[in-house]
Amino acid sequence: PVIRCKEQRELSEGNLLVVTVATKETDGFRRFMRSARHFNYTIKVLGRGEPWKGGDYMTTPGGGQKVRLLKAGLQEMKEEDKVILFIDSYDVVFASGPKELLKKFQQTRHKVVFSAETLIWPDRHLEDKHPHFREGKRFLGSGGFIGYVPNLKEMVADWTGEDNDSDQLFFTKIYINPEKRKSINITLDNRCRMFQNLHGSLDEVVLKFEDGQVRARNVLYDTLPVVVHGNGPTKLQINYLSNYIPTVWTFETGCSGCLEDLRPLSGLKESEYPLVVIGIFIQQPTPFVSVFFESLLKLEYPKNRLKLFIYNQEQHHEVEVSSFLKDHEKAYQGVKVIGPEENMDRVASRNLGLDMCRQDKDCEYFFSMDIEVVLKNKDTLKILIEQNEPIIAPMITREGRLWTNFWGALSADGYYARSEDYVDIVQGRRVGVWNVPYLTKVYLVKASLLHEELSSNDLFSSGTLDLDMAFCHNARNKGVFMYVTNMHTFGRMLSTENYQMSHLHNDLWQIFENPKDWEERYIHENYTKIMRDKLIETPCPDVYWFPLFSDIGCDHIVQEMENFGQWSGGRNTDTRIQGGYENVPTIDIHMTQINYEKEWQKLLLDYIAPITETMYPGYYTKCISYLNFVVRYKPDEQPLLTPHHDASTFTINVALNSKEIDYQGGGCRFIRYNCSVEAPRKGWALMHPGRLTHYHEGLRTTAGTRYIAVSFVDP
Ligand code: UDP
Repeated sequence: PVIRCKEQRELSEGNLLVVTVATKETDGFRRFMRSARHFNYTIKVLGRGEPWKGGDYMTTPGGGQKVRLLKAGLQEMKEEDKVILFIDSYDVVFASGPKELLKKFQQTRHKVVFSAETLIWPDRHLEDKHPHFREGKRFLGSGGFIGYVPNLKEMVADWTGEDNDSDQLFFTKIYINPEKRKSINITLDNRCRMFQNLHGSLDEVVLKFEDGQVRARNVLYDTLPVVVHGNGPTKLQINYLSNYIPTVWTFETGCSGCLEDLRPLSGLKESEYPLVVIGIFIQQPTPFVSVFFESLLKLEYPKNRLKLFIYNQEQHHEVEVSSFLKDHEKAYQGVKVIGPEENMDRVASRNLGLDMCRQDKDCEYFFSMDIEVVLKNKDTLKILIEQNEPIIAPMITREGRLWTNFWGALSADGYYARSEDYVDIVQGRRVGVWNVPYLTKVYLVKASLLHEELSSNDLFSSGTLDLDMAFCHNARNKGVFMYVTNMHTFGRMLSTENYQMSHLHNDLWQIFENPKDWEERYIHENYTKIMRDKLIETPCPDVYWFPLFSDIGCDHIVQEMENFGQWSGGRNTDTRIQGGYENVPTIDIHMTQINYEKEWQKLLLDYIAPITETMYPGYYTKCISYLNFVVRYKPDEQPLLTPHHDASTFTINVALNSKEIDYQGGGCRFIRYNCSVEAPRKGWALMHPGRLTHYHEGLRTTAGTRYIAVSFVDP
């Protein structure tokens, strides 16, 4: 009678206590607590620091330890109108507050309400004993229940099981016993009004975005559960949902969850920066390795707080590695290099890299970078540290593709699957810090994990999985959360396909495979600006002058030609050209001779055609060009070129080195206009009509060696 009387009045939040078991503060537990704090739940944690003997969902039934702890915990509770929500915590988030929970509890008109499940577990032979409902789930889930203290006490009074016995079986047996069910007054939340267990129910649950907050919605029963539980093998789904629920990311506020629990670095003295071991892994021939090391140098972080672990499997890249080390090794606190001669396999190198941090008591982070990563954001390392997550990757993309260094979901067999929000994240429509099942290429790991959850020295192998999949698999199994952030733009990753190694400067050939990186390396930094602002100069009538190649671009072309070395003799007979006769021969090497024809053609189309069409309006070009070559002028070889027309509609003439520094004299004179360009600028192109009007000569080079690249376009 006492209880019936109390039932009449509405329960208030003060009546509710949330009780959970957490032997360790896992990432899942911290997530649970964050959502609980958001709604002002009062939480009591049992079992802190105890060893866990309750088994895990992947092996056998278990969980008995939770019942033992609850039973002991209830003993201290005397108030009869106290309502306890007993709930798992590693894979649970709250989607709403205590008020709604209590209201829904009271509406059941029962004293104990268990979460319901679609699937029967662990003993399916008990199926027939379960009462039927008109609608909803029939089976009991022990991961969440709510009830009055006296009823709960009665329910666990008979528990004498072992810690690894099944709590679910224990409660199920009580529930399917009609007398006990009645006397304790138990029912199931069979339409998921309070509890949503995800196992067996994934298709029923969608995110529901409300004003400024996010809930899970059960579309089968049209309910909004208060608690969402990733029971059994649905850990990744709860990770996905909890990227949003309750207010982690919303349409109104974006990622407010991303601003919590940060580790700010600003204001620290250099010596106070956390020590980071950067692992650099060169596992295959890769373009732009020297650019990688340039961006490593530019990383905004005190170098004396960085140690480097460099694993290079490629003979081919030893030049870049040693040239970087020669100039900069001393700036870093320490450097360890594993070269190709050591024949270390990839997996071993990854383990060893982590170990370099693990064994250094000062190391706080391991920052792993594969050589194909192009980091454009100098603050990347600082940003990642400040975000303060266990493992976090900066999102990097493949130019113009949906490829990134993370997966939003896993397929049943553990490979890539596209999460519903993947494209929105990749394209920046949703910006935040995302809990994901897989990341690769570049990521930061907290060293504290390396001493605990990830203390195994074999994290990069697992069955037949490749090393990144193995690492992520191991992290997931240990309950370690991995995040990817797209709060900033960080950079991209290179394609390592079609990388030829037969040239001196193989990167020059990357215009097709990695066009953006090629452009950044080889096109003049002012090219785009000059195009945009129409700053193209006109040194002589109808002659246009604009920056085309970077310094490095010029140097690489010249070095490539000199390396090839088969300069023509400068005679009229020339077997390389159609007809075999050259009227105005030069000492040169054709692009075809170094297999650069297709690449040069693409350069003309992408970088020259737009200028041609702007400066000679009405003329459209596909940049057909059969003669593209580099000319060498030297006083004692060929110092000049006599007046001539070119066999072209228009001609491109790029200066590949610098007057005064590399040579004296030189230049180009347009005879009809008595106008000369006598101070060629390195990397700048002259464009002029080839025949009819622009009769011209190459002026004498009086000292040194001058190089120009020439194309006769639209012959
Ligand atoms: N738990 C714990 N320590 C552990 C493992 C589990 O305290 O080492 C607690 C925690 O509250 C967790 C619950 O037991 O949420 C259930 O464990 P698990 O999530 O593995 O089981 P499932 O929900 O998949 O049945």
